[in-house]
Amino acid sequence: MGKATGFMEYDRIETPVRKPKERVRDWNEYSLPLEEADLKIQAARCMDCGVPFCSIGMEIKNGVSGCPLHNLIPEWNDAVYRGDWKEALELLLKTNNFPEFTGRVCPAPCEGSCTVAISEPAVGIKSIERAIIDRGFAEGWIKPTPPKVRTEKKIGVIGSGPAGLACADQLNQAGHTVTVFEKSDRIGGLLMYGIPTMKLDKESVSRRVQLLEAEGIRFVTNVDCGKDLSFQELKRDFDALVLATGAGKPREVAVPNRDSKGIHLAVPYLTASIRDLLLNKTEQSLSAAGKRVIIIGGGDTGADCVATALRQGAKSILQLGRRGKLEEERSENNPWPEYPHVFQMDYAHKEAEAVYGMDPREYLLSPVSFVKNEACEVTGIRTVQVERDEETKRYREVPNSERILDADMVLIAAGFEGAEDAIFENFKVKKTKQQTIEAAKGFYRTSEEGIFACGDARYGQSLVVTAIAEGREAAREVDFYLMGETFLP
Ligand SMILES: Cc1cc2nc3c(=O)[nH]c(=O)nc-3n(C[C@H](O)[C@H](O)[C@H](O)COP(=O)(O)OP(=O)(O)OC[C@H]3O[C@@H](n4cnc5c(N)ncnc54)[C@H](O)[C@@H]3O)c2cc1C
Ligand code: SF4
Repeated sequence: MGKATGFMEYDRIETPVRKPKERVRDWNEYSLPLEEADLKIQAARCMDCGVPFCSIGMEIKNGVSGCPLHNLIPEWNDAVYRGDWKEALELLLKTNNFPEFTGRVCPAPCEGSCTVAISEPAVGIKSIERAIIDRGFAEGWIKPTPPKVRTEKKIGVIGSGPAGLACADQLNQAGHTVTVFEKSDRIGGLLMYGIPTMKLDKESVSRRVQLLEAEGIRFVTNVDCGKDLSFQELKRDFDALVLATGAGKPREVAVPNRDSKGIHLAVPYLTASIRDLLLNKTEQSLSAAGKRVIIIGGGDTGADCVATALRQGAKSILQLGRRGKLEEERSENNPWPEYPHVFQMDYAHKEAEAVYGMDPREYLLSPVSFVKNEACEVTGIRTVQVERDEETKRYREVPNSERILDADMVLIAAGFEGAEDAIFENFKVKKTKQQTIEAAKGFYRTSEEGIFACGDARYGQSLVVTAIAEGREAAREVDFYLMGETFLP
């Protein structure tokens, strides 16, 4: 442990961010690195509590507590405190293939279960993680390390999100020949097309892909597996296949007039915006400029739509959620070390408040129908207020609460409903009740011989950190299946 009394002497310093009014004028990352002196102090706040709940990575009451990658947090905190950044990097890379992604976009379940957080603000784990990996790249310590020996096994990984990339990385390091297929035009899954550039700069995704390529992984884009390459062809060409195809089936808002012009699903909208930026287009092809925008869905994807519409110059933005506003503090039935379900102002909400003078969220509202004009363009949403019945735990309509909210553009961010139908049709794998690929946690084997599944496709829509953890664990199982033993962690 760096400093025994650090947690009593020093306050938490939040990850610095750019001023909301300034950052909405561009598409660059909104968060900034901590200064080295502050990082040392933050690392000193880790009390090396003996049982590091920050790295347990356990499901408690349908939520993840602690780091799913079991990152060696107290160990790298200590190394940072001592100024041994190389050691910190080695420790970090033992468990996390891509800390440059998690250090930026992870909601840090580790911090929710940090022991200091029982009585004080948690250790700033995420900003320390980001600093370690950024330093590693800046110092040139991260270099391609191809495996010294190759096996004769060939593996096809389908889907290039964090799960597919982590799985491919591990299997390549074990000496297998790995090909990653991606149906989109760029590698990265939701890291590339989904999570906005303000949260994760796309250069860092490309830098990682180039590194993996230099280590021997082959990437093939614009190939929809199961369609452009048949299941039979893939089975013939590879010794094992891994389905890391995500949980991209959107939850629809199936109310009258859904076919009106101007209603878009969140991920295609965010993807169009990112693609335009990557192509240096001066105008966005699906733009909210000058429009009254309503986003249906109170979650993180909805928040990313707020931040994107804001930068495109929306006239006004409303984000509708079906659930109520969360409490400022943990409730009694959400104790430490569970993930804290408390009210938060996300980066997007702070930006909307700075620009429009108010938090864009409205709670406990449910859409009843879309309103359209003669040209079939959306002009609004008819909504009702709902309330939670504490007995049945279901939401019921409040009588006479109907309202029409004006809109020229509606974005649907109502969540996801599991893996896409084509995966089940083309790969014949069994489906769970949650519409994900059936493959037991820890084994990752599907109902088809030699076919594995991991990430959101197996787990359901989750987090980047969970996807990386799934990819790593699935790689271990694939290696064992092919070799009869495995040395992968
Ligand atoms: C808008 C948005 C913002 C998010 N923000 C965050 C965040 O800030 N922090 C966080 O931790 N998590 C965030 N998430 C969740 C996180 O991105 C996902 O949990 C994670 O990316 C899942 O990884 P994955 O590899 O399983 O799947 P994905 O990232 O979805 O990748 C799957 C890939 O498979 C490809 N594919 C599918 N079918 C085929 C096929 N037949 N052939 C070839 N390729 C195929 C898809 O095109 C896709 O690229 C966000 C999600 C969304 C939608
Ligand atoms: S990956 Fe996420 S949960 Fe794990 S240490 Fe980093 S910020 Fe915490």
